Amino acid sequence: MTESKDSCLICQIVSNKIPSYKIYEDDMALAVLDVNGANPGHCFVIPKNHYPIIEHVPDLELGNLFSIANKISSSIFENLKAEGTNIFVANGIPAGQTAAHFMINVIPRKENDNINLQWKPKQLSEEEISTVELKLKEQIKNVEMGSVEPTNKPGPLHEKTETSSFADDEDDYIANQLRRIP
Ligand SMILES: [Zn+2]
Repeated sequence: MTESKDSCLICQIVSNKIPSYKIYEDDMALAVLDVNGANPGHCFVIPKNHYPIIEHVPDLELGNLFSIANKISSSIFENLKAEGTNIFVANGIPAGQTAAHFMINVIPRKENDNINLQWKPKQLSEEEISTVELKLKEQIKNVEMGSVEPTNKPGPLHEKTETSSFADDEDDYIANQLRRIP
């Protein structure tokens, strides 16, 4: 997961060093058919910049990526006769992330297609729920477009969004973020 931009397979798809089935491209993003996907039509939407995990992706790009995922999902419904889609992010290795480059998966679904993305519901105690509630909500309450501040990064977010590749002074920040990925 700590692989750099140079060794990143997804960056090599972006730069056409690895051939791919592109279904959408703009200045910031690309959508590609996954040749090893869950089923035909499984795509992933990626930023052209190398961002390892979602916390690194500037809001503007994140919005664009999810808009693209939404359009692809519509197209999957209409043109592949899907009965549902999963729009899915694996953020971090324990969550199933396999490449150190953020991506949104769009997976066409049909009833009884044997793709298993389900979990067993757990009954949490009142205490567990209120502890988690307290830990999360204080930090999340100021979320609005453009004001989400990464927790480990001093200074305003826009300094980061203006940088299209990782500068040296960002290395510590990225190392801190990646520490979340065991
Ligand atoms: Zn990359």
